[in-house]
Amino acid sequence: MICPICGIGVKTKYALSRYDNKTNICDLCGQREAKFIWHSHSYFDEKKPNEKMKWPLWRSIIANILERQKAELEKVRQYNLEWYNTHPGWWGTKTGEMLKKHWNLSDEETNSGEEE
Ligand SMILES: [Zn+2]
Repeated sequence: MICPICGIGVKTKYALSRYDNKTNICDLCGQREAKFIWHSHSYFDEKKPNEKMKWPLWRSIIANILERQKAELEKVRQYNLEWYNTHPGWWGTKTGEMLKKHWNLSDEETNSGEEE
């Protein structure tokens, strides 16, 4: 199944969209919906989202949260990349490799300590 909000293929972990309680979406979008509703509870006022807005608007709001999360993650990644590249003591070490993997840093953008 393809998640109708973020367009990512879902194999196992589904969630039921809070929009109408019948559309299947991916687990992460389910969490984004929950957060959005929680932050906007005064707007929804006990009503279901589909009583307050049409699906395209709902979809774009939740997808927009996803984009913001992505931008936030990329900011953190850039920060980590800079940290890694300015700490040569970690280059080529087991921990350094682990951090690279954890932070999603590629070999091309990180210093390895080897001469070019
Ligand atoms: Zn999704």
